[in-house]
Amino acid sequence: MSDARMTMTPVIALVGRTNVGKSTLFNRLLEHRKAITSPIAGTTHDINFGHCKWRGMTFTVIDTAGLDLTTATSTEAKIKKQAESAIKKANVVFLLVDARAGLLPEDRAFAIHLRKSKGKKVFLVANKSDNPGTRRQAEGPEWLKLGLGPSFPVSAANGTGVGDLLDAAWTEVGGDKEVPEMPIPDVRAVIIGRPNVGKSSLLNAIAGEDRVIVSEVAHTTKEPQDTLISWEDFKAKKTKRILLVDTVGIRKKSAVEKGIEKVGVHMSLEELKSADVVMLMVDATEGVAMQEKRLAGFIEDHNVAVIIIVNKWDLAEERNLGTAEDYAAYIRLQFPSYPYAAVTFIAAKSGAKVGRLIPMILEVAEQRHRIVPQADLDKFVEKLKKQHHSLFAKGGDRFGKKGNRPKVYGITQTGTAPPAFMLVVADKESLHYNFLRFVENRLREAFGFEGTPIRVNAREIGDPEMVKARR
Ligand code: GDP
Ligand code: GDP
Repeated sequence: MSDARMTMTPVIALVGRTNVGKSTLFNRLLEHRKAITSPIAGTTHDINFGHCKWRGMTFTVIDTAGLDLTTATSTEAKIKKQAESAIKKANVVFLLVDARAGLLPEDRAFAIHLRKSKGKKVFLVANKSDNPGTRRQAEGPEWLKLGLGPSFPVSAANGTGVGDLLDAAWTEVGGDKEVPEMPIPDVRAVIIGRPNVGKSSLLNAIAGEDRVIVSEVAHTTKEPQDTLISWEDFKAKKTKRILLVDTVGIRKKSAVEKGIEKVGVHMSLEELKSADVVMLMVDATEGVAMQEKRLAGFIEDHNVAVIIIVNKWDLAEERNLGTAEDYAAYIRLQFPSYPYAAVTFIAAKSGAKVGRLIPMILEVAEQRHRIVPQADLDKFVEKLKKQHHSLFAKGGDRFGKKGNRPKVYGITQTGTAPPAFMLVVADKESLHYNFLRFVENRLREAFGFEGTPIRVNAREIGDPEMVKARR
């Protein structure tokens, strides 16, 4: 799968006050609602999004009613937040009003905030225009006061006018022109985990995050299946993009195949191999079982960075799971192949601590591509020699075979993704495997590399003295 074959799906956001018919229109627009959306009832992070196909184009539709507005106290603040989120997350905004009820102050408030959208098109949708009478009302001059141009009379209930509205959206996003290519993501990440650990809850929580814009990515050969997360990095003043691979598998499974035992990897191993970061999700209340170990086996030797996500941590107290430190130690024992894995605790259902996951994904991916300047590596070797003088002296110990201790001349970085290092030694024969492990640990102490594997190898440049001594 090459990135060139993928295209972004434009996003439509539905906004408007309660009861104008947002969810009715949402359901009408979506073709495969059951298959794709996964609303989590009763949670503030219950954000609905799904797909709508129109004239060969796939749109992502978001119902902003599901956005987390709990931090907004007044109605006015909620309206502002909802409108701002819609502008941020969408290419096209549909502001819904109720043609039968007429213009209300809340509609006006929405329009005021939406008019601030820079360059994003806002369509005024006069819903409940079910018959010629209400259609006339919908086309009345009062709606022009909102400053959004004439309205689109629509009936979400019977479908009238929906086609014209979608035509307008289609033209707005350049449906008549070439499909835009997807920007190259900074990071390709995958979420794996057995059924019910909370993968789809996590996706929804990520979509509900304030700084996040989620768009679906269509593969021209298959149905859409990846999710592109655009995240504002305030510090770097840049938008970072994370492509979550094969997310439709996650959502589909949740809604349709609940309870069916699956290994939990939906993507092909090829796709797994091309990932930068694998997030292995564990249910804190269930712990690590055989299935997780099998999943862990899939990542082995794939050179990817690993984040172990311990989910449902909200239940830690109730279930006597102990402290996060103790649990992390338990996790590390269960996955001895990934001593470098980053471990994080979240509650996907409420969205708690999900916000720190995205910076973490970016960070471990960065570590995986990190290049350490040679000057720092030289200092590193010097320090190592000073601190561990005995290691570099002659005589037998746990690192050296045949009574020789390895004599190290230097170290260089020979690759990234993952970072690879070459130790230059006098005599490779004298090296014990433990010594390479020892150097790896010192490198981690000195430079971090959290979440990513690193490779340390050795190359010998013959030291005549040493060679003679061994003979
Ligand atoms: P939301 O709160 O904006 O999501 O609104 P809902 O989609 O829940 O709709 C609120 C009410 O308006 C429900 O009783 C719907 O059946 C009704 N409704 C939605 N769309 C239409 C429409 O096009 N025509 C009519 N007559 N009623 C509608
Ligand atoms: P998936 O099969 O891995 O996609 O898992 P789901 O996201 O469908 O979640 C499975 C079940 O676990 C659902 O009933 C969720 O409500 C619940 N769940 C998910 N995340 C959490 C969490 O953080 N805390 C709690 N208590 N329950 C959660």
